[in-house]
Amino acid sequence: MEFLEEGVVNCPYCGESLDVLLDPQEVGQQYIEDCQVCCKPITFDLALDANGEVAVSVRDENQVY
Ligand SMILES: [Zn+2]
Repeated sequence: MEFLEEGVVNCPYCGESLDVLLDPQEVGQQYIEDCQVCCKPITFDLALDANGEVAVSVRDENQVY
């Protein structure tokens, strides 16, 4: 049974800290979710870090306008 991990990211637009739930089953995938503060679409990249834990990085969507 999988479980969700909690992570914190900073919005690439407004810099606000956001709590996110990371699904280990989505490692290697990307998804887009709107910032809870400024409502802009953030791209989330899920990967495993050196400890085998789920790590998330974010970037803005400016390049796909
Ligand atoms: Zn934001």
